[in-house]
Amino acid sequence: MRGLFARAMHRLNAVFTRLSDSGIDRVPDSHVRMIQGANHFFLISTLTNAPLAVLIAIASWPDTLSPAVSHVAMIAGWFVAVFLNGRGRLASANLLGVGLPLVQFTYLSVVFSSSSLFELQLLLLGGLVYVVFVPTRWRSGLLFSLIGLVVAAVLVAVPAFAEPRYDVPAWWIATIAVFNLANVAFFLFSTGFFNNSYLQRERRRNGELLADAHLLAVTDSLTGLYNRRGIEPELQSAQVTGDYVLAIADIDHFKQINDRLGHQVGDTVLSDVAAGIRGALPDAAAIARWGGEEFLIVMIQVQLPEALTMLERAREAANRQVSAGGRTEDVTISIGAVRVERPGSVDVAIARADGQLYEAKRGGRNTVRGVTLRERAGRRGPAEATASAEVTGAVLEAADGAAGQTSSPGV
Ligand code: GH3
Ligand code: MG
Ligand code: MG
Repeated sequence: MRGLFARAMHRLNAVFTRLSDSGIDRVPDSHVRMIQGANHFFLISTLTNAPLAVLIAIASWPDTLSPAVSHVAMIAGWFVAVFLNGRGRLASANLLGVGLPLVQFTYLSVVFSSSSLFELQLLLLGGLVYVVFVPTRWRSGLLFSLIGLVVAAVLVAVPAFAEPRYDVPAWWIATIAVFNLANVAFFLFSTGFFNNSYLQRERRRNGELLADAHLLAVTDSLTGLYNRRGIEPELQSAQVTGDYVLAIADIDHFKQINDRLGHQVGDTVLSDVAAGIRGALPDAAAIARWGGEEFLIVMIQVQLPEALTMLERAREAANRQVSAGGRTEDVTISIGAVRVERPGSVDVAIARADGQLYEAKRGGRNTVRGVTLRERAGRRGPAEATASAEVTGAVLEAADGAAGQTSSPGV
């Protein structure tokens, strides 16, 4: 029984959502919410007002036939509005959908006397119209709200409307009025709620899109590492604080690998090597694809020996054999590192790490080399700064036997 009810509600909701969404693909994005709000509004009004027509008709038959018929006509008019919305006829649909309820409640107030609370519904309706329209057309919303307000004021102020036109029992009118009032109040609430959830959904979606776009903008698509832009903030903060190790890793003889095994295999090697380096270094290390087959690594608050141990692990992790078309190539990388103790231009550190990389290549490749840059790096430019920078750290190589800082023989 409960399942049946839940299924029925689910079905009703699906139908309702489909109707509420009718026409949204025919209007510009900025109007979607208004169309949904208006459809929503018409549908609830129409559905919940239907019993009123019957109630009015039987209230004092046959006198009340004409209010009942006009009520039904207006409900039909609202359906026309939904249809027009579905065709993307925004202006006429809204005019009809908003105008008709205004006319309807005015008419009800006139025929059932101004003491019947229908004016209050006009006021609520004005508020509702404003809620629906304000995101895109606040002027139209304001206009309709003001019309509702003025009509409501006239109905209250003019004595001619105080007398009921039909001889209807007072409790009938009260029932209709209270029902209608609750109805309009519910529209107001549900439309506000609907708009709000729509807005929140949009906001969340925008946030996600923005996050996706940001991630794409700072990520290298082949390796999934940072691109140059992505590591820029890390470099900037390193530049300001000092106390970091910067390293450049470069795949050895990569051109040869490309030439012998093909560019596509080269791409696979690139992403595998990137994954190897990433996996070997701590999460706190920022790694970017700096050039074609070069990677820039920044590790904040790390001493040189510690860094060289980690980079040594990265070198080992990058080592692999790759085969294609019956050929096999050894993949190795060389790394040049510099430990920077003080704030100063990061270009100096990069130039120094590049120098160490060059040394590693010259020394036979598949090696990690590092130095400490102790002097305050100059601010006027890398060349001059490099010249004035004093290399004080020992060049740590595999051959010197320091634990964890070994390197394989050059290739
Ligand atoms: P070394 O050991 O001195 O670094 O030699 P190398 O051959 O690695 O260096 P070189 O700078 O001569 O060649 C780098 C090659 O990297 C050349 C270029 O075609 C290749 N390369 C750059 N970007 C990509 C890429 O995205 N995919 C592939 N497959 N190859 C790339
Ligand atoms: Mg290379
Ligand atoms: Mg290179």
